[in-house]
Amino acid sequence: MRAARALGPAAVAALIFCTGIGPARANTATEALPEAMAMLKHAVGIRTVEGERQVPVLAAYLAGKLKAAGFADGDVEIIPVDDTAALVARYRGTGGGRPILLSGHMDVVAAKREDWTRDPFTLVEENGYLYGRGVADMKAAAVVLVETLIRFKREGFTPRHDLILLLSGDEETAMASTRELAKRYHDAEFLLNADAGGGTLDAETGKPLLYQIQAAEKTYADFQIALTSPGGHSSEPGADNAIYRLARIIDRVAAHQFPTESNEITLASLRALGAHIPGPLGAAMTRFAAHPDDAAAAATISADPAYVGQIRTTCVATMLNGGHAVNALPQRASVNINCRIFPGTSVDSVRDTLVKVIDDKSASVTLQSTPPVANAASPLRPDVIAAVTAAVHQRFPGVDVVPSMSAGATDSKHFRNAGVPSYGIDAAFIKPDDTFAHGLNEKLPASEVEAGLEFWHRVLTQLAK
Ligand SMILES: [Zn+2]
Repeated sequence: MRAARALGPAAVAALIFCTGIGPARANTATEALPEAMAMLKHAVGIRTVEGERQVPVLAAYLAGKLKAAGFADGDVEIIPVDDTAALVARYRGTGGGRPILLSGHMDVVAAKREDWTRDPFTLVEENGYLYGRGVADMKAAAVVLVETLIRFKREGFTPRHDLILLLSGDEETAMASTRELAKRYHDAEFLLNADAGGGTLDAETGKPLLYQIQAAEKTYADFQIALTSPGGHSSEPGADNAIYRLARIIDRVAAHQFPTESNEITLASLRALGAHIPGPLGAAMTRFAAHPDDAAAAATISADPAYVGQIRTTCVATMLNGGHAVNALPQRASVNINCRIFPGTSVDSVRDTLVKVIDDKSASVTLQSTPPVANAASPLRPDVIAAVTAAVHQRFPGVDVVPSMSAGATDSKHFRNAGVPSYGIDAAFIKPDDTFAHGLNEKLPASEVEAGLEFWHRVLTQLAK
């Protein structure tokens, strides 16, 4: 049990004027845990996968919880977007400074009952883990954010900044609800995203290794390279064959390496990783962090698929199409090239590089339908770093807190694109291969729900006051 937070003068004032439910009082993470777990159980049971139209059901459920805790009707909004929805809840401050945004998503990746050991849409606790689709990505964290705002309401917390909770409804797929949220809520101090960053435990010992604040992510872009040839009967092959030419082009893309790049975030991240990773890889990271022009260090890092993306733009063939009949010469062949572009490098310049590399004037190189969302790295705000570090150290004193750049695409990219500095600060500490997010038998250490309640309460109390 942790000690209850002392009531400050603002909370005492709120005690007198509070119009919410019940008298304002401190409310510990331990006390809040049963309510959060009940919400999580209900949330996992709602199948918020693409196409099932269940995100609005979850949004309505969470909105009901917030209103029952004293949120005014006008401060809780469900925004329908196509067949999904976003949930917005505003916790009012005294109006000093712009709002602080809290981000997460309600949707989950599809899960088939027959593939899983347990029913993916029933929350199960076993051997210290919670199992269920979305427990790690990210219904537990979403519920923790909701519960944190409910605790603040009960405590009568009066921050300077408004806190605006923005839960999207299609982060895993089209991100249409995210775009809608970023369009409406970009006049903000900064955004804290519970869907990225977080702590890493040693795979064997379970000891905390480091905590990463995601402050940048790479730009995602798909290019289609397509070729045509006259075709004809396969018994009469000629010199021109679109499939042969495409194969040569793919070889050239495979052989091309984009130049090394770095920024303050990736250098700090590599410096910290270098201190924790044994052997030549860790040594190379340490050298690269000190001298980003060290070609030998770059070569060692680039040879590791987990880290090559930390020092370069990467482009890789992911899908292939060609021909129209087994007994006909191909009239068309194409390949999808998936690129993860370093912050600060333009999508156009990567396209230009691909055109040069493939060196075939007859090939078309086309950016695919979803427009890439370029996003610059967010500046490392000292107040955010300090508040997160204090909350991490309260649990694990002395653990390194380092900025990081992720290759995956989160909701944050739309907000960075709209000018809102965004930081991924998931509270959970997990082993590297622990969660199976998106995969089978998704799980989360059960300890991380209460830890999340403690973490978010500390971070927001510090940053919003
Ligand atoms: Zn997620």
